[in-house]
Amino acid sequence: MEVVSTKAKLKAVLEDIRWDKSVGFVPTMGAFHDGHLSLFRAAQKRGDVVVASLYVNPTQFGLGEDYGRYPRNLERDRTLAEEQGVDVLFVPGDKEIYPKGTPHTWVRVDGLEDKLCGKYRPGHFRAVATVVAKLFHIIAPDRAYFGEKDYQQILVIERMVRDLDFPVKVVRCPTARDADGVAMSSRNVYLSGKERAAAPVLHRALSHGKSLAQNGETSSTKIGKSMERVLSEEPMCKPQYVGVYDGDNLDELNGKLRGKVLLAVAAHFGKSRLVDSIALRVG
Ligand code: AMP
Repeated sequence: MEVVSTKAKLKAVLEDIRWDKSVGFVPTMGAFHDGHLSLFRAAQKRGDVVVASLYVNPTQFGLGEDYGRYPRNLERDRTLAEEQGVDVLFVPGDKEIYPKGTPHTWVRVDGLEDKLCGKYRPGHFRAVATVVAKLFHIIAPDRAYFGEKDYQQILVIERMVRDLDFPVKVVRCPTARDADGVAMSSRNVYLSGKERAAAPVLHRALSHGKSLAQNGETSSTKIGKSMERVLSEEPMCKPQYVGVYDGDNLDELNGKLRGKVLLAVAAHFGKSRLVDSIALRVG
């Protein structure tokens, strides 16, 4: 595995590789867990040369968020990436990505970036879209792999790719979970023992909503209320939002479920904020 930290070196490495192979790209912020590794494996399975980026992008963190304490462990990540067969690990510094400081040009995806998490993290999704656009230009991948764990992020990236004609195929990968249903996340290390023990309530609530829908309940309000009830049984869980949304445009559903539906939740456990969701198709 090659570890490179500059765009120039990365371009040179990829030029040698790409003439007869497809490039699969997995953008990450590091602190790898099996969710990340499943994306690497998905890229490998398709026969791509696997390029992963590891960059804790400062612009996507809001004031008072966890940029400073975000878990960083390059040596461990490097070993895990190598073991999973990643071919190139791109680890740029801030000067490489933002040589002139904070950008003046942003990619904004209207209609998607202000909903769900966007309401509580203003500016987050435009920063994600912008850094992913930059990484797409730098790497020029054939395919890019994203986790459904961050469902809103996938929709934002897919829309950006369509609207701006990026020549890349976005591949959705399923959420990797611990045995008790908790979605793997680099942020789970922040949880105290008690908070971690309480965290499965998110998946319990979503699974409850899903089984109601699969058993014929078509009222989004009833499903939303039932998920709220499950969450309220866990005193450590402080929900920020929970609901039933259109799986394409993230509008809150107020009526009958139909087509692509997203059950989604964000909640605080102490100081940590966790998000989770389940996508389903109804009818
Ligand atoms: P992050 O390092 O948290 O920015 O995540 C990098 C990529 O890994 C994103 O596409 C995430 O959606 C994906 N990812 C994070 N957690 C999981 C998970 N539990 N299962 C699948 N993909 C994940």
